[in-house]
Amino acid sequence: MGKTKNFQTVKGMKDILPDEQKYWKYIYGLVDNLAREYGFSRIDLPLVEDTSLYSRSVGTSSEIVEKEMYSFTDKGDSNISMRPEFTAGIVRSYIEHGMLDKPQPLKLYTTGPCFRYDRPQSGRYRQFHQINFEIIGEADPITDAQIIQIAFKINQLVGLDVVMQVNSIGCKDCRPDYEKVLKDYLKKHRSKLSEISKKRFIKNPLRILDSKEKEDQEVIDNAPQQVDHLCDGCKNHFIQVLEYLDEIEVPYALNPRIVRGLDYYSRTTFEITPASDEEQGRQSALGGGGRYDDLVELIGGRPDTPAVGFASGIERLILQIKSKDLKVPSDPEVDVFLAQLGIEARKKALVLFEELKDAGFNIREGFSKKGLKNQLELADKLNAKLSLILGQKEILDGTIMVRDMEGGIQEVIDYKKIIPELEKRLKKVETIVVNDKIKEEK
Ligand code: AMP
Repeated sequence: MGKTKNFQTVKGMKDILPDEQKYWKYIYGLVDNLAREYGFSRIDLPLVEDTSLYSRSVGTSSEIVEKEMYSFTDKGDSNISMRPEFTAGIVRSYIEHGMLDKPQPLKLYTTGPCFRYDRPQSGRYRQFHQINFEIIGEADPITDAQIIQIAFKINQLVGLDVVMQVNSIGCKDCRPDYEKVLKDYLKKHRSKLSEISKKRFIKNPLRILDSKEKEDQEVIDNAPQQVDHLCDGCKNHFIQVLEYLDEIEVPYALNPRIVRGLDYYSRTTFEITPASDEEQGRQSALGGGGRYDDLVELIGGRPDTPAVGFASGIERLILQIKSKDLKVPSDPEVDVFLAQLGIEARKKALVLFEELKDAGFNIREGFSKKGLKNQLELADKLNAKLSLILGQKEILDGTIMVRDMEGGIQEVIDYKKIIPELEKRLKKVETIVVNDKIKEEK
């Protein structure tokens, strides 16, 4: 038999180990809170959808559909794709379940993994996680402002200094005119463009604007801008969005390059970037979104169902939290470690553990361990404040030993008084200093 293979995570995918969980718990908690405060209901969707849902909505010329989807044929010959994003699935669900009969606008949010077959690097994975907020069924620019505000708030609450890069890419009425102006301009400068942009010129010229290729930059800098070619409706909409953002003091920068790579956007588009110049750039985008007024109709829903939303990448948020050394809540400290010696003590310890846990103590145990030294070492590693030691002698006497893990002082107490004794001692640990005197908290 050959050597057994050492398995590893699939390239571009990561385990979220126990030590990392505090970041995830913190972000999920913060997002759930914001959703509740702003009136969003949670929705959970399958990890896979029909491939054609994405080609129809995200668009066949988008990078995602062109080369990044995990697509396969299942055993029933259906073409399926792992979700590369949430919006298309949420809109599919909105239509499938007749949610337009509910009071509009419908505010939905979700979190979970998405999949893109991208080149893995820092902040770019093949399985990553998004936070997603959508408001469906409302065209008013105040909803764009609220979506941008929530996207901003997530970062602000985490302690990150970010700027919202905003733009308007017009609607199906005014975008074709702009695309013509842009195409005429790009045609004149085609020879200066990168190979990738030359290809895009034919399929999706708008996307050249968010190219990061060096040779494209000068051409992009001097390109005509969509905001100068908006119809009156789009122009008014955009001005109102900006006015609302001023009102709620969300920091933004007008950025004509924010065209987003997906087909379904119209009017407002935005991305969230770190505020400092040196950290900006596509790779560092913490999130992005915009309005998608035609998507519901495009995938078979009622015409004229406007919507707006955003997605933020959780891994990118965590990378920022770590690089800025921002604080996240840790797990609660261990109050008591329960050590036992001997078969009778073990049995009794099992019962005592239940009693102490139910009384609200954060308790750990050494049930499976034999020696006391072993168990106290573990208590130390867990940073337990106190240890309870139950041996044969204590069982006969109706007592138990309490050890203060910091000072190492041990005391024998009445078994029946464990709970009040622990409460007293744990409170003592949390003493506060008032007027230079140690005063016990009441
Ligand atoms: P997008 O719609 O492509 O702009 O994605 C929205 C957000 O999801 C981005 O701003 C990132 O924070 C995150 N994101 C997208 N793709 C990846 C990826 N491959 N790895 C990690 N995060 C990603």
